[in-house]
Amino acid sequence: MVGHAKRLDGIPPTIFSEMSALALRTGSVNLGQGFPDVDGPPGVVEQAVAALRGGRNQYAPGPGVPELRAAIARHQGRHYDLDLDPDSEVVVTTGATEGVAAAVLGLVDPGDEVVLLEPYYDSYPAMIAFAGGVRRPITLRAPDFRLDVTALQATVTDRTRVILLNTPHNPTGTVLTREELQAVADLAIERDLVVVTDEVYEHLTFDGHRHVPLCTLPGMWERTVTLSSAGKSFSLTGWKVGWATGPAQLMEAVLGAKQWLSFTSGSPLQPAIAHALDEEWHFYDELAASLQQRRDQLCAGLGALDVDLRVPEGTYFALTDVSRLGWRDGRDFCLALPERAGVVAIPAQGFCDDREAGQHLVRWAFCKETDVIAEGLRRLHAADLRA
Ligand code: PMP
Ligand code: GLN
Repeated sequence: MVGHAKRLDGIPPTIFSEMSALALRTGSVNLGQGFPDVDGPPGVVEQAVAALRGGRNQYAPGPGVPELRAAIARHQGRHYDLDLDPDSEVVVTTGATEGVAAAVLGLVDPGDEVVLLEPYYDSYPAMIAFAGGVRRPITLRAPDFRLDVTALQATVTDRTRVILLNTPHNPTGTVLTREELQAVADLAIERDLVVVTDEVYEHLTFDGHRHVPLCTLPGMWERTVTLSSAGKSFSLTGWKVGWATGPAQLMEAVLGAKQWLSFTSGSPLQPAIAHALDEEWHFYDELAASLQQRRDQLCAGLGALDVDLRVPEGTYFALTDVSRLGWRDGRDFCLALPERAGVVAIPAQGFCDDREAGQHLVRWAFCKETDVIAEGLRRLHAADLRA
């Protein structure tokens, strides 16, 4: 019988595809999957066209084309005062998704425990399972969704190998503070752990909240793999150009796995992202400012519904609790929403092992045009949303 391998048992299909298909099928306003509806800088797209026409169409070197690795190193220097060797401390990946996969597969042995924040990004548990690892979530809890340092300390055991962090955090919108990061660093150093930190929303923070890369804390460079992606910073999510940075030894582990996943990432998009990082980086400052306005627009509208709302400090997303509308289950709410209101949102319960903590959480994306958000809100306000 043809069927799937046991490794896929218990790993549900990604909710983002399910909900985007539902939005298409029902003609709903898609406030679910996190992708902008306006493309990134035209000059960057032109650079990709030039690369496609200019013969940049054969395999890139395994760690990425040299000009992109150099541009990533300059980016880390410009924003975070880091001094990276582009030859040994940067690996280009096929989106941060491959970065997560390569880091987990390259660093986690069967039986190793991986401590991660929940609600988690859905590729993390899948990759931990592929590696044969064991996930140990720490819950970011409503209403503040801050890191519980005591829970973190209690969750790390002698079997913990990796802490898998995400800040700015999808889906809560929490931007970890320097104090919270210091607690992670203290523990990682004390227990001799590696930290893989997914920082794809590094430039998308609001109200003066600043993203601090964990690797900049004292003693952390040598034990941190930092992941990011051009998808979020340049509104080019479909390009799947990401990168891992860190000390040579950890990059060897990432590359050791990456070479068997994709071998190398797509060539012609890499020089275009090098250009973006060097020449068009004002784009993400303007994007953050415009996202903050759209966050305010969405949150004002959601706040007028009978839901508990967390105003996010960063990312594309606002998280709500729908229990006051009478729903016992956020997934049921999201499945009813297209018919009730013609809107799609993402249930966050699948991102939590703690059923109680995740059951009523629903995520809304504001990386959409203002008129799309306005139409979504108009529909929500016109509908009967009670269970
Ligand atoms: N990590 C997080 C937290 C994300 O939200 C996403 C989705 N964009 C990714 C990783 C995947 O990034 P990419 O599209 O570059 O693979
Ligand atoms: N990261 C985006 C989100 O959280 C979507 C990525 C995906 O669809 N896998 O919605």
